[in-house]
Amino acid sequence: MRPLFIAGNWKMNPTTEADAVSLAEAVKEGVGQDHAVRVAVCPPSVFLHRLDTVLSNSPIGLGGQNMHPEPSGAYTGELSAGMLVDVGCTHVILGHSERRHGLGETDAFVNKKLLAALKAGLIPIVCIGETLEEREQGQTEAVVGDQLDGSLAGLDGDQMAGVVLAYEPVWAIGTGRTATPEQAQQVHAFIRSRLSERFSEAIASRVVIQYGGSVKPENARDLLARPDIDGALVGGASLKAADFLGIVEAAR
Ligand code: PGA
Repeated sequence: MRPLFIAGNWKMNPTTEADAVSLAEAVKEGVGQDHAVRVAVCPPSVFLHRLDTVLSNSPIGLGGQNMHPEPSGAYTGELSAGMLVDVGCTHVILGHSERRHGLGETDAFVNKKLLAALKAGLIPIVCIGETLEEREQGQTEAVVGDQLDGSLAGLDGDQMAGVVLAYEPVWAIGTGRTATPEQAQQVHAFIRSRLSERFSEAIASRVVIQYGGSVKPENARDLLARPDIDGALVGGASLKAADFLGIVEAAR
């Protein structure tokens, strides 16, 4: 069985280290030593080093929200996979829609980052998902299929089994408008069948596919009950420990 995996994407929040530490401490206390559900938090990179200390002796993973594919060099404002590992990261979010759409990240660039993240030993969380316009035009599977092909190029089956995918319909992110469990399950099943064709059924059955987009304690249980929904990538609701822990509880 695939373990359920709940990750918090804090985005550009909270605004001070003190608040980031309080949030991480509250999540750590709530999760305790429970290993039944995989949990990770992805704070802004300036807080990673401090939170690595806060989260010591806890099963909670620590993730970056982005990285550059090159190991070092003249890339102003960027950070590398090796640097994330060095400050204690276990995970990294790649290709979030706010970077794809807001900052022009392409599948090819996400693919380079993915290969670098795997080489460095990070667990990548690769985000994919269609816009509202694409959904309304019936292009969801075509768009998600292209994103999968482009982002996962060059991976072998063993590498694929270690990648986490996050299906995040862009129209559901931060809008309060969640995909229904049926809508999400349909796309998750499509993703798994695509992985099955490209790799094998055995590999596809090992890949953890999170859903993301306005996940809250109130809707988490229904989403997580679907056979191909293996967890959640949580934005807004990960900023309140009680809400995030409520989602973790729903995964138990
Ligand atoms: P949301 O964000 O939960 O606030 O919709 C999810 C995400 O962007 O990963």
